[in-house]
Amino acid sequence: MVVAGNSITKKMFRNFIFILCCCLLFSCSTEPQQKIKVASKPKIEVPPFNADSAYYFVEKQVSFGPRFLSSNGWKNCAIWLEKKLKTYTPNVIVQEAPIITYDGKNHTLKNIIANFSPKKNNRIVLFAHWDSRHIADHDTKNQEAPILGANDGGSGVGVLLELARQFSNKNPNIGVDIILFDAEDYGQPENSGFPIMQDSWCLGSQYWSKNPHKASYFARYGILLDMVGAKNATFRHEQISSYFGSAILQKVWRKASHLGFGNHFVFEDAKQIIDDHYYVNTITGIPTIDIIEYDPATENNFNKHWHTHKDDMDNVDKNTLNAVGQTLLEVIYHE
Ligand SMILES: [Zn+2]
Repeated sequence: MVVAGNSITKKMFRNFIFILCCCLLFSCSTEPQQKIKVASKPKIEVPPFNADSAYYFVEKQVSFGPRFLSSNGWKNCAIWLEKKLKTYTPNVIVQEAPIITYDGKNHTLKNIIANFSPKKNNRIVLFAHWDSRHIADHDTKNQEAPILGANDGGSGVGVLLELARQFSNKNPNIGVDIILFDAEDYGQPENSGFPIMQDSWCLGSQYWSKNPHKASYFARYGILLDMVGAKNATFRHEQISSYFGSAILQKVWRKASHLGFGNHFVFEDAKQIIDDHYYVNTITGIPTIDIIEYDPATENNFNKHWHTHKDDMDNVDKNTLNAVGQTLLEVIYHE
């Protein structure tokens, strides 16, 4: 009995261990199923930026010649830009306004505006200037002759036209407006001989900021592109952009660095530049940053060919256009 009793106790003990093991195994194998499932974010497909296409758009603008207010190149380029944008969206507006420049001349400026998903309240806005400088005041020769402005003017518009083409293929979730400002570069040169005119630069953005194309227009934020095409160009945290749009700067620079464009988008501060974003920020209140080349090696920290006759197609590089364009696509399609 003792033996029997003992053997029953052993059997019971073995059964107990067996059941315990089963329980442990069961609990182990079922543990993952008992976890609360976290909904995985749907993967967002960001289209690849086509730098060849952007380059072609720059080349096309330059083919019209210099594009300063009222010039032939300006007239023909405006017609082409409007037509081109209309192939990507039916919502294109050309905003016209009479202006007087520092030299006392009367012109009619044209801001060219394209809207994607215009009914969405959740929007962002992208800017560039489409005019080119009417003089070469930083060249050593032919200073009175107008420049081609391939990088200064052409490059920003080229990138935005390629983005417009992408939006027409696949709408981003967010509404986007593309605004091409006129008369950014008709500012008063030093020693012009004319009386000093305040705010003589950025006439198109000043006008639009005071008279937006739509009543009570607002966007969550804005990004301005200016001189975004030169070989090995670097972009830094320009002071006005940091002041008004620090979070946007961080977002864009982080995205760029994540994509491997840290060689172009450098996490360093740069001095303030009065560009179109200054007027957009101070007049409309839309926080807007400027992606603009900063060259530590030049006296004015702009590209070495800035406002010279060398700002031609040789000054435009597809790698730089791609870094800027792909970064913007990543930012926009993740909104
Ligand atoms: Zn310029």
